[in-house]
Amino acid sequence: MLRLTDLRLPLDHPASALTDAILARLGIAATDLTGYTIAKRSYDARKRGGIVLIYSLDVDTPREAEILQRLGPDASAAPAPKGGKNSGKNPAPADTGKVLPTPDTAYKFVARAPAALPLRPIVIGMGPCGLFAGLILAQMGFKPIILERGKAVRERTVDTFGLWRKRVLNPESNVQFGEGGAGTFSDGKLYSQISDKLHHGRKVLTEFVLAGAPEEILYVSKPHIGTFRLVSMVENMRATIESLGGEIRFSQRVEDVLIEDGQLRGVTLADGAQLRADHVVFAVGHSARDTFKMLHERGVFMEAKPFSIGFRIEHPQSLIDAARFGPQAGHEILGAADYKLVHHCRNGRSVYSFCMCPGGTVVAAASEPGRVVTNGMSQYSRNERNANAAIVVGITPDDFKPFDDSGSPLAGIALQRHWEAQAFALGGGEYEAPGQRVGDFLAGRASTALGAVQPSYTPGVRLSDLSASLPDYAIAAIREALPAFDKQIKGFAMADAMLTGVETRTSSPLRITRGTDGHSLNTRGLFPAGEGAGYAGGILSAAVDGIKTAEAVAMSILAGAARS
Ligand code: FAD
Repeated sequence: MLRLTDLRLPLDHPASALTDAILARLGIAATDLTGYTIAKRSYDARKRGGIVLIYSLDVDTPREAEILQRLGPDASAAPAPKGGKNSGKNPAPADTGKVLPTPDTAYKFVARAPAALPLRPIVIGMGPCGLFAGLILAQMGFKPIILERGKAVRERTVDTFGLWRKRVLNPESNVQFGEGGAGTFSDGKLYSQISDKLHHGRKVLTEFVLAGAPEEILYVSKPHIGTFRLVSMVENMRATIESLGGEIRFSQRVEDVLIEDGQLRGVTLADGAQLRADHVVFAVGHSARDTFKMLHERGVFMEAKPFSIGFRIEHPQSLIDAARFGPQAGHEILGAADYKLVHHCRNGRSVYSFCMCPGGTVVAAASEPGRVVTNGMSQYSRNERNANAAIVVGITPDDFKPFDDSGSPLAGIALQRHWEAQAFALGGGEYEAPGQRVGDFLAGRASTALGAVQPSYTPGVRLSDLSASLPDYAIAAIREALPAFDKQIKGFAMADAMLTGVETRTSSPLRITRGTDGHSLNTRGLFPAGEGAGYAGGILSAAVDGIKTAEAVAMSILAGAARS
């Protein structure tokens, strides 16, 4: 199989244009093309009205060896081909390096469980990281036990809507906690900038397709799933883990750990039950503040790390579509447009857009009573009226000091809690979020009426002055950034665009540091993983980290078995 990269075709090309492009690139006749599949499809929207699709294709041809010799990475001035459409032509210089053997992206298991498994590994948390750690361990035969503090996804959905519709927050079952983890009620964006030489991301996407995701996620450049599909996919993956001998226990909060001489020996649950284990994956997400505190008190090494805070911004999706796609806005292949913006401010801060949700809604994402936190989600169709994204400012452990200057690694949580409680108060104390029109925010006055953009956050938005909802440096930075973003997306700083606050859970405020073997730096058998441990940011990277951590656990179990 050959991988052809960087094949460019106009947005509205007929299906036959792909075949023609393959034949032209390879200089072969149609009879020599056995078949092809799309490996990747992205687009280049820089030229207004002239959006171009960019394909990578996997092509089957009996002339593979000869083509590689002629056009492959090691091609020299090879003789021209015979019998092809382009016979007699050498490859255009621009095409050099764009024909390769298709890489092997199939996942390779690193281990098989021994017949006599000493103690079953435990995975704490069933977000994307814990789900994939559990799945891979199960597929290798290690029969993991997954402990999840929240409920199974259908019951959890009821609780999550309890906050959105009835202002009732269940601290153990909400947007952050429960089967599927934080990404279940989300846009389901499945891309990441992690380096992934072993193609673990491909394994994640393949498992998602097996669990019911649309096949296109395997090839579109920015795949997304949307909330409703994620719910049933998570259930299907649970069934797979169970069919392989894994066990999943809901409403089981891990409250303590048993550590003997620097080695983890087990965990204690909220009901007092104890489970023995020598290998425990902590995939608890960035909102498990009580768990972080407990691990810190037990002496597990962790350190504060930078993260970001800000607001959600909402615009009409049509404005973003028009700015990004011009006259081709609304094209089926393009879908609702997204954006990614960054601005470096005079005060040394950087402001950037984060977790952009085209055609989606802003959601209440608190997990603690008396606090307000925003985030964003969408459905697969992405056809809600507003585009939303977090607009956030980077902060470092130095910024945590006004809230906790003890040098504790938990100081970032103190900062988060302070501003989340402030947002709760500004919102009126009943889980409404404080909101402000961008025009009023830039002019430094409280909003008193909504404009053309209706905020989508439920249970509701209370108009307010958001300058009291974040530190001054963050407000100054966002005030500087919005007009700068307007230069990139015309209308971005429109007076009626809506800001809703506050966005405080962009990533973990700490890192539970691990060694290259996956164990905590000072506690053998404790495997910090995923976003909460500071090793991932987003669904795909958390899932990939789950795979890597499962591999580390498997290797450690096998090494232990070999020693005994
Ligand atoms: P989590 O998903 O947070 O899972 C941790 C799990 O551990 C939770 O289920 C929790 O209940 C459990 N847990 C915690 N403590 C304990 C304990 N003591 N005992 C037992 N269980 C415990 N990312 C994207 O890539 N794309 C998106 O479109 C996207 N949209 C998002 C929308 C929303 C509303 C939110 C909240 C997040 C979104 N994210 C998105 C971020 C993404 O969800 C996270 O990066 C990802 O879920 C992190 O995975 P994780 O497995 O590390 O942790």
